[in-house]
This record gives sequence, structure tokens and C-alpha cells, in this order.
Amino acid sequence: MDGLSQAVRALAQANVSGIAGSFGNAGWSVRMPASGILQLTSPTHSPRRPRLLLSVGIHGDETAPIELLGHLLHELAQTPRALALDLMIVVGNPAAIEQEKRFVDADLNRMFSDHRDAVQAAAEAVRADEIMRATASFFAEGGTQKWHFDLHTAIRPSLYPAFAVLPGVLEGARRHILLGWLGSAGIGAAILNRNPAGTYSAYTAGACGATSATIELGQVAALGCNDLSRFDAARAALAAFLRGGAPPASAGMPHVFKVAQELVKRSESFRLAFDRDTPNFAAFQPGMVVAQDGAAIYRVGAETEYVVFPNPDVRIGLRAGLMVVRVE
Ligand SMILES: [Zn+2]
Repeated sequence: MDGLSQAVRALAQANVSGIAGSFGNAGWSVRMPASGILQLTSPTHSPRRPRLLLSVGIHGDETAPIELLGHLLHELAQTPRALALDLMIVVGNPAAIEQEKRFVDADLNRMFSDHRDAVQAAAEAVRADEIMRATASFFAEGGTQKWHFDLHTAIRPSLYPAFAVLPGVLEGARRHILLGWLGSAGIGAAILNRNPAGTYSAYTAGACGATSATIELGQVAALGCNDLSRFDAARAALAAFLRGGAPPASAGMPHVFKVAQELVKRSESFRLAFDRDTPNFAAFQPGMVVAQDGAAIYRVGAETEYVVFPNPDVRIGLRAGLMVVRVE
């Protein structure tokens, strides 16, 4: 196995000690507050130094971001002094990655809040607490610019191969700067989500003051089987970000959407009105039925809506899909 494959494999096993060693030897302050969590900070503390959090594997079967981050860190570890900001790495759900599953007990990306109800006993609840503690302490230590990119892959194909979800608390200039960066990273669509969903990026935006996004890169595949060339723009933009350089020339701003309605699964009789291979961002015309849950019918409103993250297999009470509309 070559060095690069080893770096990706280690990251998938939540082993960050190799990267920690490279940066520690180059004079960085290194902390590993829990398994799969690494914090690299400059010994010459400056509150003006940006802080960046990159997370992968919050869903265990989403391996493209693990490969992408493995490549980025492997390259950067050759010249550790080129890192131009304080960096935190999180490998979200190592147990689920090992089992090649989305989660072990329950969806980790619904647990970054105090309202966990029935899933408080899940294995993921302990991990969410661990990640939230480490994240809060990383962002509490200054840095006027705080950034978080939570890297995922979608379950289904998508009419936009790379798209992002932005927490609703991001407004004005912060949102504009973030959209510009996402455009340079080849992200074709951005969804503004005002509903607090317990996601990691909503937590860092709301509780830590970070400029955050959940970024969906391609589709679920096994580790080592992802075509990373589809995400060259995202890789180049992240590599430049880590080194303090300007982002690559933008292919244009992402198309912006907002949530029109949430399809919530209220009972076991919940059914989507379309089949499983319907891609993300498929369009539905006004008045069309998109889901049915017993007597309740979900219908498109007055303008065209696009479906994102349809998943009828979620637990009762959770979101089984989003319907979004164009805003810009
Ligand atoms: Zn995911």
C-alpha cells in the first residue's frame, strides 16, 4: 500500500496520529481530545488567525470525503508549515465507518442539539457529546474567522453533483462570502435551511458563530471506489483555503434554494409518491402530490418545488425529505 492509500485508510479508521506526528514535528501544537479528532494550532497564538473545522464520516457509508480529506492532509503533511490557519479535523462516526453503515443506532447528524428525545440512549449520542465538547473548545479560543465544512455524500444521484445546505442563521455578508467560496469549490446549488435540524453545521453556526455548510459531494460508494476527479474544484478550493491562498476562479455562484416544506414521516404508512431512483433536485409542478401519510397528503404549493434528501426509511417523527424552491 502506498503512502497515500495508507493515509486514507488511517483516516477511515479514525487514526490521526500520523498526521499529528508530522505537524507536531514541524512545531504545531497538537491535541487529540477524542478518537478521530485532531486539533492543530499555531504555537504563536493570534486571535486574527482563522480557524477551520473539516469534518467527514458523520455518516459512516459516505466515503468520498474521507478519501478527499486523506489526500489533502497527505499533501499538506509534506510541507506542514504551509498550513495558514488553525485546523480541526473530525472523523465523525468511526464505528459506522467500520461497519460501512450510515449509522450504528441512530443518525448522528440529528444529534447536535439538546433535544434528542428517544435516541439519547443511542451509541451516537455519546459521540455527538464528545464532538460538541471538542468543537466548542476549538472555536472558543478566538479566531475572528471561524469556518466549518461538514463533508458528506448524498444517498441518491443528484441533478447537482455537488450541493450544500446552509444553516438559516447565516445571513448578509457572511452568507454572501460563503456562497462565493462554494461557487469556487464547484458547488452548483445551496439550500438555505431555517429549520434547526440537529445537524453538525447548524450547531457550529448557531452555537459557535462559525460560517458553516453541509457539503454533499456525489453519491455513496465504498472506500477506494470514489471518482474524486469529479470534485477537483472542491479539492483545489480546500487546498487553497488550508494554505491561505485565494480560491480558484469561480464557475459562478451556486443556484440558491430555500426550504418550502418538510416531508415528515408521522406513521409507518408514510409513502413517497415517486420511486426510489428519483434524483435530488427533481422538479415537481404546483399541486402535484409528493407524499402521503395516512390521511395527510403532501402537495406542491404555488410554485415549482424540487425534492432533496428523500428517504422514507427514517424513524417516525423525522424528516423523510425536503421540498425546496429557487430564491435567487
Ligand atoms: Zn451524510
